[in-house]
Amino acid sequence: MKIKILGSAAGGGFPQWNCACANCSRQRAGCGGVQTRSQAQAAIFPHSGGCFLLNASPDLRTQILSTPLLSPSHPPRDTPIAGVILTSADVDSVAGLLHLREFQPLRIFATRSVRRIVLEENRIFRVLDRANPPAVWQDVSLDTWFSLDTTHTPTGETSPRCRMVSLGGAYPDYVTDTLRKSLPPEEAVVGLVVTQSEKQFFYAPTLPGRSGGWKDLAQSSDVCLVDGTFWDENELISSGVGLKTAREIGHMSLAGEGGLLRALGSSCSGRRILIHINNTNPILNEESLENRQVRDAGWEISYDGMEIEL
Ligand SMILES: [Zn+2]
Repeated sequence: MKIKILGSAAGGGFPQWNCACANCSRQRAGCGGVQTRSQAQAAIFPHSGGCFLLNASPDLRTQILSTPLLSPSHPPRDTPIAGVILTSADVDSVAGLLHLREFQPLRIFATRSVRRIVLEENRIFRVLDRANPPAVWQDVSLDTWFSLDTTHTPTGETSPRCRMVSLGGAYPDYVTDTLRKSLPPEEAVVGLVVTQSEKQFFYAPTLPGRSGGWKDLAQSSDVCLVDGTFWDENELISSGVGLKTAREIGHMSLAGEGGLLRALGSSCSGRRILIHINNTNPILNEESLENRQVRDAGWEISYDGMEIEL
């Protein structure tokens, strides 16, 4: 299986259009040491063929166009994209579904709660029903394996399997109180475990850090690609761009006692890679001490266009 990073930044991308933080200003000034990043988007290409998108970022159209592996190969209309797997109903995870509205049959895997939020709170996503056949939503139960097969799967090839694990996060702010009260909290934010050919991949672009079950999965995976949103718990406050801490908006920070670097140390057996990096995060500056600290601790920082063979 190949994993391709189509976008590595958190919501807003890097630079963010209305942000003049140190990193965004540095990028605009052309000082070097920083590279432009689109909003977090990963895709997996199983040995068995086809492609599955992990979430659907607001930058998805541009990300598909800049990835030759995702070009159509047969006239009149075609795509290797067989489906989309959603880890939350956050705007950053679902907005890109609207880029897939060009009458393309798709499967969309999500928890029942995420599917309800997308379709019941936001009727605009019903535009996906125009395809023939219409987009098929598959409700996924937590901790249950499901197959990522495609119509192109050659005989003898085993399709990858995926399961969703609860990460203990919260539903997005835009969800109405009425719907929110009817949804089980454990279905709000999930991580994905994907396996094929005895290799395991763990994907969690949002790690709220409120439960610990994900650590074993991350440590036992050949590749874990996880939440690198914030360096410091108070980063938004100290940068002057927000009033909430990292945890208050659903992300473990990287540094500090309760941070990700300490939680997931050298006990990992595989590659540890950060994604969903906020534009305020000092690790984006390749000349910063924080960038050095992350790499010295054995972590990699993903970038747009990065390919990972598994
Ligand atoms: Zn910024």
